[in-house]
Amino acid sequence: MTTPRLRVAPSPTGDPHVGTAYMSLFNLGFVRRYGGRFILRIEDTDRARFRADSEQQIYDTLRWLGLTWDEGPDVGGPYAPYRQSERLETYRPFVEQLLADGHAYHCWCSAERLAQMREEQRAQKRPTGYDRLCLGKTAEERLALGGATDTPVVRMLIPDDPPLIFTDVIRGEVSAPRPDDQVILKADGFPTYHLAVVVDDHLMGITHVVRGEEWISSTPKHVLLYQWLGLPVPAFAHMPLLRNADKSKISKRKNPAARLTWFIEQGYLPEALINFLALLGYGPQGESEIFSFADFSASFDWAHVNAVGPVFDLQKLDWLNGHYIRELGVDEFAERLVDFAARTEDLSPDATALLRAGAPLVQERSQTLLQALDLLRFLLVAEIDFAVDEAAATKQLGESGRPVIEAATAALQALPEWRAGAIEEALRAALVEGLALKPRNAFGPVRVAVTGGTVSPPLSESMEILGRERSLSRLSAARR
Ligand code: GLU
Repeated sequence: MTTPRLRVAPSPTGDPHVGTAYMSLFNLGFVRRYGGRFILRIEDTDRARFRADSEQQIYDTLRWLGLTWDEGPDVGGPYAPYRQSERLETYRPFVEQLLADGHAYHCWCSAERLAQMREEQRAQKRPTGYDRLCLGKTAEERLALGGATDTPVVRMLIPDDPPLIFTDVIRGEVSAPRPDDQVILKADGFPTYHLAVVVDDHLMGITHVVRGEEWISSTPKHVLLYQWLGLPVPAFAHMPLLRNADKSKISKRKNPAARLTWFIEQGYLPEALINFLALLGYGPQGESEIFSFADFSASFDWAHVNAVGPVFDLQKLDWLNGHYIRELGVDEFAERLVDFAARTEDLSPDATALLRAGAPLVQERSQTLLQALDLLRFLLVAEIDFAVDEAAATKQLGESGRPVIEAATAALQALPEWRAGAIEEALRAALVEGLALKPRNAFGPVRVAVTGGTVSPPLSESMEILGRERSLSRLSAARR
């Protein structure tokens, strides 16, 4: 087998889509198994949707996931440049050749005329598609007819019997609908995706085109371009799209989880997201649903890929993430938590130390780093803002809470050593025995005073970490 060369080709049109990670993962699974090369190409020919910061976000999110590329705009490679906007001159001779051979033609139709044409076609219940008004006409002939612009686009001349059936590595024989006379060169001189993808995949030596199933209907156009240009056709693999539970496509507009940065913000671990995405497209490896990228790529086989749209079940991801969090060593977990918190918090050295100390209290009970951080926020604030959980403060620190806080304060002030065990015993003696309260009623007010909420890591451990002085001053601040 020739060395496989696979690529992912995202368009920098905003926050990277989770599909980019999913495609990269499957490309890379194959590449790493067979010792190939993985290429990142930036397809930035759609200037209307281009967003300047998007390219860096693509790099950052894919690197965060460990899905790294061997060639790309930022790392270079033998086929540079890897950014299509820097390759405009490359596409021109291919367009010239297609025009000269009669496989393509100029089209001057204005956007308004095309819209009107489509409207009429729809009104007459005919299939919409370009009506070839410009075919065979010179600029003068066409401009004389009206509804035209000075700068033409170039369209493919789809033959009467285009090749509509192609072989897909995942799906076998696939049949696609007849294409329209696709624009391949726009009026702004930029190629469209269809021309650029074929030219670049060829020039970059791509052996397998792995992409989402939404491109199936475009593949006949690409096959035609390969044939017309006398180029070898690569293998195609169309991955099933990730879908919402109602089977709709996951879109960034409707689902925050379509954005790759969302997973970072929510505190998912990259290894959990990799496992999740692999599981979606691939199903369990043998008995287990838990596997690493190395396990995945070691046995990678297109035949295992589900051709049916996998449902994006975030509960499954939470479960996997909780598993990976529990698997981390305590120090590693603490480091990840500190790094995660530093993304959004201004962490002082003191706060960092407290967070590290608190990490073991929440590791077992957190499914995400965000949950862990939320449970430990009481360690990071100078004092509790009771307005945040007003309901808890009112219930626990009102009339009935006051004697509890007072008795707790007295018992804790007298404590010779500030250790969780001793704190626990002193509180029990003073509140459960001394005031004859049920444990829930005894510890509730103290918990709210110290952590600001009714849900927290174990109370006496939390107080040990927070320290005597800070704990006592919180109790005093809670006396209302
Ligand atoms: N730029 C295309 C996209 O954004 C790439 C499709 C392909 O891989 O051919 O999805």
